[in-house]
Amino acid sequence: MIYPDVELDVWIKKTGIEPVIYTCAQCGGKYKTTIPVITRDYVGLVSPKHGCGAGFTKLVFCPRTKEKGDLWARIIEEFLD
Ligand SMILES: [Zn+2]
Repeated sequence: MIYPDVELDVWIKKTGIEPVIYTCAQCGGKYKTTIPVITRDYVGLVSPKHGCGAGFTKLVFCPRTKEKGDLWARIIEEFLD
């Protein structure tokens, strides 16, 4: 998992992925997915760790599908330079 160094606003504009607020099932706290992330198969936003473990963070994403492959490739290239 890669965390590109990019402003959230820029990331949202580029990827079209909107942050979501969710309630943690363990502690009941409300958290927002605000950290841009790139994986082998997905591009998205993950919530910050808050002490409840990896299973209680949330990830919103778009698959790096074939149709969007070129788009993601450009985005990823841009932010990994
Ligand atoms: Zn929690």
